[in-house]
Amino acid sequence: MLPHNIQALILDMDGVLWRGEEPIGDLARIFGRIAGRGLKVAFATNNGTRTPEMYVERLASFGVPAEPWQVVTSAQAAAELAAPLLLPPFSLKKGGEAEGGGARGVFAIGEAGVMEALRERGFEPLPVERADEAQAVIVSIDRGITFQKMAEAALLIRRGLPFIATNPDKTFPTPRGEIPGAGAWTSVLVTATGREPIYAGKPAPALFELARRRLGAPKEATLVVGDRLETDIAGGQAAGMPCALVLSGVSGREQAEAWQPEIDVIAEDLGALVE
Ligand SMILES: [Mg+2]
Repeated sequence: MLPHNIQALILDMDGVLWRGEEPIGDLARIFGRIAGRGLKVAFATNNGTRTPEMYVERLASFGVPAEPWQVVTSAQAAAELAAPLLLPPFSLKKGGEAEGGGARGVFAIGEAGVMEALRERGFEPLPVERADEAQAVIVSIDRGITFQKMAEAALLIRRGLPFIATNPDKTFPTPRGEIPGAGAWTSVLVTATGREPIYAGKPAPALFELARRRLGAPKEATLVVGDRLETDIAGGQAAGMPCALVLSGVSGREQAEAWQPEIDVIAEDLGALVE
């Protein structure tokens, strides 16, 4: 089923590899098949709360071998988007040292995944007491959110600083049901500031673009695989890559066949796609 020119896969996880704690198919066998075909693989997620290392552990528990560089999160894509947007006096001296104190400071509302992604990209995530030194604002889900954090973020956004949100997901799934997600917190700031953020996660293209650059494959040879039309497929198409919808998750065949622009491949599940 796989188009013959494909060299790399960017895989969504929930609904493609597993549903909750249930694997979808024999994952060890499926990934053996993927390796046998010489395909490079990245895993892309809108969830910015966890670090890549946390995903590697979860993948391993399902029998899927992966290294941290293969996991691309919306938090990393947000940090990537922030880099060229920082206001003057952001600049690098020879040797990569930032000019001016706190010039690489970012105020982020987020959890471990966001803070680690910022440090990795050379930024300093600022505590709320030093929010004033920030050069950009990043908003994600934060289960330690406070009124003070939201107030500082609003003040900075109103001042005109770059405003980036990890993803527009309105809710976040938990065993007890859906709780407010990054998109819900972002909407509070949009209401309070009258400004719209730049989104890093699906259906915006930045997450898939970062994944593709890591894989080093051309766009037309990189297949985005997901189970949700409005996020995975819309995002893959926005990034200009071929897309495969698997029917093992949220979206059904009928909606998939009606989707415009037409989807390159529709498969029952990942196993069927790579057979
Ligand atoms: Mg999914």
